[in-house]
Amino acid sequence: MKEPVLDHIGIAVASLGEGLALYRALGLEAEGTEEVPGQGVRVAFLPAGDARIELLEPLGEDSPIARHLDRRGPGIHHICLRVGDIRATMARLREEGFELLSEEPQEGAHGMLVCFVHPRSAGGVLLELSQPAPSRP
Ligand code: ZN
Repeated sequence: MKEPVLDHIGIAVASLGEGLALYRALGLEAEGTEEVPGQGVRVAFLPAGDARIELLEPLGEDSPIARHLDRRGPGIHHICLRVGDIRATMARLREEGFELLSEEPQEGAHGMLVCFVHPRSAGGVLLELSQPAPSRP
């Protein structure tokens, strides 16, 4: 498949329960929820065709999602593009002048490798790059 592909759209919610109820009313069901302490969030992924909706609830006051909710309220937080080789993509984007929020890929949900790109270098959109976890023996 040609990459990148749209993997998911991340949406900040104050409460996963309320978010899940809203999307259930729209016909979308979560695959399950997961805590990602490294990112300060609890997440639920809702398959929607070839892409997914990711609901993000803050784990604490210092979570980036808590800051987003304080400043802007609930709503779209980021979009995520899936790539085959995140390190190669990061190196290429760095050369192109994109501002990456970490030097190295971080661990995201489902053991994926992720990296965020600052919105001021990406047309006002917080971009997440992800690479699926290598299958473990
Ligand atoms: Zn995400």
